Amino acid sequence: MQRREFLQGVAASTLALTLAAKIPATPRRAKVLVVGAGLSGMAAALELKNAGFEVIVLEGDSRPGGRVHTLREPFSDGLYAEAGAGRIPSTHDLTLKYVRQFNLQLAPFYPASGAEVYYIKGKRQRVDAAHPLDMSKVALSLTAAERRIGISKWEAKYMDGAQREVGRVSSRDWPSQAVLKAYGSISIQDFLRAQGASDDAIEMLVSGYQSEAALDFLRDLASHQAPMLSKIVGGNDLLPRAFAAKLSEQIIYGAKVVRMEQTGEHVKVSFIQGGMTRTQEADYIICAIPFTILRSIEVSPAFSEEKRLAIESMTYGAVSRVFLQTHTKFWTKEGNTGFATVDRAMEIWNPTWNQSGNRGLLMAYAYEHLAREIAAQTPADRVTTMLHYFDQVHPGVKDNFEVGASWVWEEQPFTKGAYCVYQPGELSTILPAAMRPEKRILFAGEHCSSHPAWMQGALESGLRAAETIQHAN
Ligand SMILES: Cc1cc2nc3c(=O)[nH]c(=O)nc-3n(C[C@H](O)[C@H](O)[C@H](O)COP(=O)(O)OP(=O)(O)OC[C@H]3O[C@@H](n4cnc5c(N)ncnc54)[C@H](O)[C@@H]3O)c2cc1C
Repeated sequence: MQRREFLQGVAASTLALTLAAKIPATPRRAKVLVVGAGLSGMAAALELKNAGFEVIVLEGDSRPGGRVHTLREPFSDGLYAEAGAGRIPSTHDLTLKYVRQFNLQLAPFYPASGAEVYYIKGKRQRVDAAHPLDMSKVALSLTAAERRIGISKWEAKYMDGAQREVGRVSSRDWPSQAVLKAYGSISIQDFLRAQGASDDAIEMLVSGYQSEAALDFLRDLASHQAPMLSKIVGGNDLLPRAFAAKLSEQIIYGAKVVRMEQTGEHVKVSFIQGGMTRTQEADYIICAIPFTILRSIEVSPAFSEEKRLAIESMTYGAVSRVFLQTHTKFWTKEGNTGFATVDRAMEIWNPTWNQSGNRGLLMAYAYEHLAREIAAQTPADRVTTMLHYFDQVHPGVKDNFEVGASWVWEEQPFTKGAYCVYQPGELSTILPAAMRPEKRILFAGEHCSSHPAWMQGALESGLRAAETIQHAN
């Protein structure tokens, strides 16, 4: 089956249908091997452990959490910043449920006051409640309405209605036939163009994700538009670490899975640990690793054609982050938050606005083509390039600079990409194929969920896999 036939030929399906997928039962107390100690794998493992199943988690890395990773080195004074998951929307009930369960403390993601900097076409403006953005100084080629309402209102103008409609679909019904029909087969760029958006406004709105399905983009936007965005005090990795502490006897670290096998009523996983190949047998596997990695794992017997195509075709976005530590939080002297909006495929964050001490960190969150450009540089050049750019956005960075760091998701050996980005047509084809169990092998991970690219999606998919096993037994 070719990719094109696959995209045309598989019937549309919702998560609810996939949930109904049957897996074989086991006559004894079932043993489950979970591949990957990211949030999806650990949510599944903890659920099954608590339900009395025997569980082993094989993790290739030396730490839990996968794409929830807080960087504390090489920063001074206990400063930290996120390499991966940064924001928790107030609508993400599962993520918040676990935050509460593990007694973790939340802080707002953005400071309540201060000016944000806009840096567009080489012109810098400070914007706060008293000083709105002066659109006459924004040298973008815009429609009269875009110029009149200002950049912060563009999302609402072009996407509010659609985003609400898409955001309302429950996880169980995702993606409903109605939203698939309306937004599933068009790219976000074409969707915005059809709404009358100018090319420059589209460029600013899509942050490099030009070919993403409008439906995927709008679902993501619905999370971003939650009433409140938070982060975990001390670092978001405290969440996976809390899971890992509950699973300390179940997780085997440094165990890189290289082969999965199903024979009759059993499954077998081979993994490399300390240079030795070892095996574990069980009744089920929950495969909770990104498809970028699954592509190079040997599977016997081969997966179904649909699954194989889903694994091979899934698109992963590129993200690179660059961190600059400064001697002081000098931007506060001008009354700025440290956050900035720029005309590149990049967000600028200040992760340290609520961290104590004089020093601060500014962070570049680069997407797609810009992320790949950054990835192609040496680590030292990434920092130097961003230092020059940031000095225009926040003049004074160079004078205050102490140490820099970068993190490129495409070069991480256990991830090889940032997160799944569904392309037009794929939410009715690749998503259901990705989620469907292959006999005794079940699949979890943000890519198999109603919230791709969010911790919520990872947790939901893990619980779904655990529920399927519990249901069958
Ligand atoms: C740049 C970035 C920004 C993000 N921003 C946000 C955000 O603001 N808010 C939010 O909620 N979410 C965000 N996310 C998404 C969130 O981090 C992910 O959805 C979630 O962490 C994915 O969990 P997972 O279990 O699906 O996969 P992973 O976290 O990737 O876990 C998979 C695990 O499997 C392991 N593994 C891989 N291969 C093997 C192998 N062969 N053998 C054994 N183990 C293996 C890996 O080491 C890893 O621990 C972001 C992600 C990124 C990358």
